[in-house]
Amino acid sequence: MPFYFKIYTCEKVPDEMLNYVVDNIKRVYYMNFRIVGVRLPHYNAWHDMSNSYDSPMILQNIINEGSTFFLWIVEVPISLEGKVVYGYAELRKGSIVSISKLQRQQLAFKEAAYQFGFMIGLSDCSKDCLMNKTTNFGHLIEKASTLCQDCEVKFRRLKIRYV
Ligand SMILES: [Zn+2]
Repeated sequence: MPFYFKIYTCEKVPDEMLNYVVDNIKRVYYMNFRIVGVRLPHYNAWHDMSNSYDSPMILQNIINEGSTFFLWIVEVPISLEGKVVYGYAELRKGSIVSISKLQRQQLAFKEAAYQFGFMIGLSDCSKDCLMNKTTNFGHLIEKASTLCQDCEVKFRRLKIRYV
């Protein structure tokens, strides 16, 4: 079976949003992706103070069930160390994007593509590039929706591992 990246979704992610994000991720990374189903974050990862799910914990819950190399698109708020974030990823493990504050499809896609890139081994880039680290909402709106040439070259090298 050829290698593919798993895409999980959550209960209330609209189909239109999901399809937009997945279609555009495929456009950037041109590898195999498969939408494999709905997953709900486990209640044990709920963080009361920030009213959100702890990103490393919900990621780890999936990894503990034996799944890696996934992108999980959720509508619930997620956080890191008590601060609400748009997305989160761990290298060669998994990536998550939350649409709770990213109602526009294009923004959800950019954040998902950034987190996915990080998971497969790309790193923060200072050029006009999708891998430019998102610092705030305005920056996410303005940043590029494609990889710069340097990241594209790096990605092609990384891609060999995954096909
Ligand atoms: Zn770049």
